[in-house]
Amino acid sequence: MNVLLLGPPGAGKGTQAKRLEEAHDLVQLSTGDMLRAAVTSGSEIGKQAQVIIDRGELVSDGTMIAMIRERIQNPDCMKGFILDGFPRTTAQAVALDLMLSEMDRRLDHVIEIKLDDGVVVERITGRFSCANCGTGYHAKFKKPKRKGICDACGGSEFSRRKDDNAETVTSRLEAYHRQTAPLLPYYQASGALSGVNGMADIDEVTHQIESVLEAA
Ligand code: AMP
Repeated sequence: MNVLLLGPPGAGKGTQAKRLEEAHDLVQLSTGDMLRAAVTSGSEIGKQAQVIIDRGELVSDGTMIAMIRERIQNPDCMKGFILDGFPRTTAQAVALDLMLSEMDRRLDHVIEIKLDDGVVVERITGRFSCANCGTGYHAKFKKPKRKGICDACGGSEFSRRKDDNAETVTSRLEAYHRQTAPLLPYYQASGALSGVNGMADIDEVTHQIESVLEAA
């Protein structure tokens, strides 16, 4: 099963992708995570991407398509994948369709996690994650069970994404509406699109996504 999660920044794509990955034995393909790994490694792509990410803009289609093309051909993706953060433009969506058809594969579900613009800043600026294992938290919506201790690994150091600040979020939201939202009619036309209510709590969103997957 191959799934694509769409939605604005802060909609919970990463959180839900991790849950699906575990529940259905799929591979999460997050281009944001791949780019952050490239930044940390200090590679040329990472250096170029960092400036763009910090501005809340989109990295070039050519770079992103090449990155996904290489990753999606990895044997671990044969069991099925969840795309989170790619495609973000029509050019990326068209390239993905081509890539998948060359591999004789397709997207089984495209799920939009709908979120009102008004809550995006609160969602994003409250996010943090465990510096050791990467488990994501939120200061208001998903606190660690024991203050200052990661539920998953017991770690006590946390970090925030540099681009999770109010100013950058505004640009990221603009980029979403201008460049990524046009993918909704694109996938609507293909018949694969469903929507879930991203304003609901995390478990409820998972439940709605599971219902979409079961209905097919
Ligand atoms: P994310 O973790 O998905 O929020 O992505 C963080 C940042 O990485 C975005 O704001 C973009 O600058 C960049 N990025 C991630 N995925 C893509 C993509 N598919 N196309 C262009 N830029 C991307």
